[in-house]
Amino acid sequence: MIWLGKVNRIIEEFENVEIDKLVYNLNALSDISNQITSDSSIEISLANLLRILMGTLGATKGSIMLYAPFKLAFESSVNKGFDGNLYFRTNPKEVQQISEYKESFFVSDLEKKFPDFIKRNKLMFDKSEATLWVTLSVRNKLVGALLIGPKLGREEYKKTDLILLSIIANQISVAIANFQLIDELKKTNDKLRKQNFELVDANYGISEMRQITLELSSIMDVNNLLETFLNKSIQYLSCSKGILLKLDNEILKVSSLSKINHIKKDTSFQITECNPIFAEIIESGEIKRGEVNDFFGIDAKHYICVPLKSEREVLGFICLFDKESRVDKENRSNVSTAFSERDEAMISSLANHVATLWQKAKFYEMATIDGLTQLYVRRFLEQRMSEEIRKAQRLQRKLSLILIDIDHFKKFNDTWGHKTGDDVLRITAKTIKENVRKGIDIPARYGGEELVVLLPETDSNGAMVLAERIRKAIENTPLENPNGGDPLKITVSLGVSTYPDLANSLAELYEKADIALYKSKANGRNRATLYQLDN
Ligand code: GH3
Ligand code: MG
Ligand code: MG
Repeated sequence: MIWLGKVNRIIEEFENVEIDKLVYNLNALSDISNQITSDSSIEISLANLLRILMGTLGATKGSIMLYAPFKLAFESSVNKGFDGNLYFRTNPKEVQQISEYKESFFVSDLEKKFPDFIKRNKLMFDKSEATLWVTLSVRNKLVGALLIGPKLGREEYKKTDLILLSIIANQISVAIANFQLIDELKKTNDKLRKQNFELVDANYGISEMRQITLELSSIMDVNNLLETFLNKSIQYLSCSKGILLKLDNEILKVSSLSKINHIKKDTSFQITECNPIFAEIIESGEIKRGEVNDFFGIDAKHYICVPLKSEREVLGFICLFDKESRVDKENRSNVSTAFSERDEAMISSLANHVATLWQKAKFYEMATIDGLTQLYVRRFLEQRMSEEIRKAQRLQRKLSLILIDIDHFKKFNDTWGHKTGDDVLRITAKTIKENVRKGIDIPARYGGEELVVLLPETDSNGAMVLAERIRKAIENTPLENPNGGDPLKITVSLGVSTYPDLANSLAELYEKADIALYKSKANGRNRATLYQLDN
């Protein structure tokens, strides 16, 4: 639907333009979709996308640049018309701001938004004679940028050109993100295989280490994985305490602790406020060990701090303190608590393994969880629906579906803006999540503001009880008013149906719930309706 909306927008914008040009542009969009779903390599795909894009705009120059996170720079991946490679430097704070801008810009306007960025790269901008800039990002994660030169015959770019450019840029972003995801998954798999091999080959503590690796590999939940990793490492290296931190957008967050009582789990620290070793490790990617010098106020003499690194980024750190050497009691006072090279090798091998597992879990989450609502995505729901209906058939059980649609959602967008609209969606989704059976029911985002819950082994009565509970909970969870006035009241309408009592197939299960939802809307909204067979 979002796609259709965009096409409508173009048609409106193009109303005054010749029909030939419109058809040409729509063809270009369809060429782009075909290119994205083809299975050629990223270089060939990007080169083709750039060719289509430049043809559509009538641009004399164009470049698709990829963002290189370790270098904090945009580098041209494919280029037409520009003289030599393009390279634009940025910094972490700027990256965050730049990735939030999705519209196309004239380079001259870009200067107003990001003066430092333009200043830093002035030579490159001047040399390139670039006219338009579009940031490429997916879910606010920066993947690159498009740089477009002047139009043929030095004509001006029109508003319609900019809209088209934004749409095409969106498609290119998705293509790049997909390619990167596939590429990293491949590398992750290869790495896991190689690591297993290395571990088997290692000379020390081999059986214990293998045991730990195997144990870690079987943990699906990231927090559980990290906690087990910390505890096993402390045991394995015999140290006195440890902390595991997640790194997210320059913020360190405590994920697990052992024998450290003055810091709480989930506490966050700005990286700039922490011991500089963290920034140094992010920069170098290397492990650090030495004497403790103000390390979150932890009482210890020696530390070892190891990054958990995926291909592209540091995901977090494990820090262990004070090695307790296994020596005779009498000698204990003379024994150092420092970590050795051998300790470093062991913990580094385990850390690589954990980072790979962590990255894999993140990919899985990215592919199955919707970024805005944190509910499952439609693709995942549909897969689970097929599994659950087969199970219901086989075991002769019931399967229910609740469709949930926010009432007068457009009003929130129109009155308070899209950001508040998104907040409404987020808080509604959170309330739904809190009210379903964890690990059994499957709450998902079906479309824009249409949410669903799939209820395995649940009959109509049970589903209606849950639907009513969700309805009440949402009604009782208003959203804080962005202007500080009365809180914003949110209500939803729900439709429920059940296999096999009210529907014979998956398609019917959805259709009938939709009919029931429509009844809830027609009867005044803020209510749940069960589909009736005699409708
Ligand atoms: P009704 O009570 O009949 O459901 O009224 P409604 O205003 O909710 O109507 P409808 O369901 O047709 O409107 C859905 C609107 O939701 C249209 C679209 O602009 C908006 N929308 C869809 N997805 C999103 C989103 O992700 N964020 C925001 N802010 N708005 C969205
Ligand atoms: Mg709707
Ligand atoms: Mg609605």
